[in-house]
Amino acid sequence: MIPIVLIGAAGRMGRAVDELARASRDLEIRARVDRADAPGARMGANLIESSGVWSEDAAAVIRAKDVVIEFSTPAACRAVAALCAERGAALVSGTTGLAPADEAAVRSAAERVPVVRAANFSLGIAALHRALDAVLKALPRGWDVEIIERHHRHKADSPSGTALALAHAAQAHLGRPSSGIVHGRSGRVGERPEGEIGVHAVRGGSQTGEHEIVIAGEGEWIELRHVAQDRQAFAAGALTAARFVTTARPGFYRIDDVLSANSP
Ligand code: NAD
Repeated sequence: MIPIVLIGAAGRMGRAVDELARASRDLEIRARVDRADAPGARMGANLIESSGVWSEDAAAVIRAKDVVIEFSTPAACRAVAALCAERGAALVSGTTGLAPADEAAVRSAAERVPVVRAANFSLGIAALHRALDAVLKALPRGWDVEIIERHHRHKADSPSGTALALAHAAQAHLGRPSSGIVHGRSGRVGERPEGEIGVHAVRGGSQTGEHEIVIAGEGEWIELRHVAQDRQAFAAGALTAARFVTTARPGFYRIDDVLSANSP
């Protein structure tokens, strides 16, 4: 059994990962970590009853050969990355909105242990990245790219890490790295500059997550769209990544590496 330590266990993603891991035959949630006063802790009561350790302190539970899965906060992600490196545990990290110092902590951990870091663990989004790459490679210059993302009202960061990753990928293709990514438009903004990428964040209700890429040419446009209907999509990707890190060498991996390792 692969021993998992789940950070943010009482949160929305933590509970989704927990549910899916419990249904698996090869993964065991050895320890669950969250704050006892976490908004989801009441629902976490059923986690306390389940097997394994429940802790408020990641340092008290993480040990060598664990696979640590974290969907928590940037501060927790940073602290956990350092602990993984120190103890020799692999890391699957999904928290979004990381500051450069948090990213640096994750990169530094990857020098000593295997780390899969993804702003979106859905394998469908990994495939969407490949589709975007293929479409932009096939088209001549001059097509416009806009990204619309929709998420639930509780989402803390905006635009989504996934929308930004898609925008940066498109920007690299358009060959205009200096041209801006704009977040919505308002007022007399004038004609759309070539190479500009508009990213539009819609928030409301319980929408799990949707990313739509519009690639617009003269008299025609292409739409690529991914809908995460359920958090299980991210949880399944995170568990696939957890299996991946058990045989990976120390290093920094993306969800695309996990997709490649699992493609026929
Ligand atoms: P959430 O608020 O429901 O859960 C976060 C949990 O982390 C909470 O229970 C909170 O108490 C806990 N936490 C905070 N500090 C902690 C600490 N120091 N130690 C342990 N636990 C701590 O949020 P969520 O919707 O589950 O999302 C969590 C993060 O994952 C967000 O950044 C979100 O954007 C991101 N996310 C990523 C993906 C992906 O595929 N990469 C998918 C969905 C959400």
